[in-house]
Amino acid sequence: MELLGTSKKSLGQNFLIDKNIIKKIINIGNVNKNIIVMEIGVGYGNLIDEILTKNPKQIIGIEKDKKLSYFLKKKFSTNKNIKIINEDILNIVDDINLEKNIIVFGNLPYNISTKILTSLIMLKKWPPWYSALILMFQKEVADRIIAKTNTKEFGRLSILTNWRLESKKHFNITRNCFYPKPKVNSSLLSFTPKKVNKFNLKNPKNLELVTRILFSNRRKMINKSFKKLFKNRLHIAKKLNIDLTKRPGELSSETYYKIASEYERLFN
Ligand code: SAH
Repeated sequence: MELLGTSKKSLGQNFLIDKNIIKKIINIGNVNKNIIVMEIGVGYGNLIDEILTKNPKQIIGIEKDKKLSYFLKKKFSTNKNIKIINEDILNIVDDINLEKNIIVFGNLPYNISTKILTSLIMLKKWPPWYSALILMFQKEVADRIIAKTNTKEFGRLSILTNWRLESKKHFNITRNCFYPKPKVNSSLLSFTPKKVNKFNLKNPKNLELVTRILFSNRRKMINKSFKKLFKNRLHIAKKLNIDLTKRPGELSSETYYKIASEYERLFN
């Protein structure tokens, strides 16, 4: 593959070059002429080339790299339905104001993939502007996102994700499918927003806070960190039916949502 220059490590630039894998990814989205597609991190537009075969209503590409954006604007200049935006996705994610039916694809830069996912979960407005996310992560990160209670991968990322999204793992992608070849393999996940949420929080930051404090020591009983959240910890533990001798990885996601709700009720 001919590159414009050396690929930027700082921007997580590993381009997907395996055509069959690209096809498999795009097929998951069931893109049709009524759908708007957004791609986070467009690179040289390899995914957009394939998305175009599905004739979506519009394609919006977000690319932080100035040089690449310029290249993409030229490459797609004859297609009115493609809009390339030279921005950092993290700066605009809360301001995106589009009609519904948007499918987001992203072969995310490794170094900020969890930050991007978290920002898509923590949106102020819910249900969000997207109807599905089809995202690629480093395999080890994907395993943490979809992990269940009582596994060593279970943690903050699993809890935050499961709060607002249904997740599904599709397949792994070996590092050989990329150029330049990264050190690690990847996995493809898809997500759909949970429309109704049993544990509605006014401020999602409370869930981030509660999980951060309770997971500050994975090996220890939650008793001590629970005290940091609630002075009156025994009363709260009883009320929420929580065993303080458990380790953080042994509580269910729902228990964390209950704790965050209670924290919010008392302190916000
Ligand atoms: N989708 C392409 C490129 C993947 S590499 C492909 O599969 O071939 C990741 C891309 O994300 C790079 O083009 C990089 O410049 C871009 N990128 C990195 N950080 C970004 C950010 N914060 N916002 C938007 N794009 C970003």
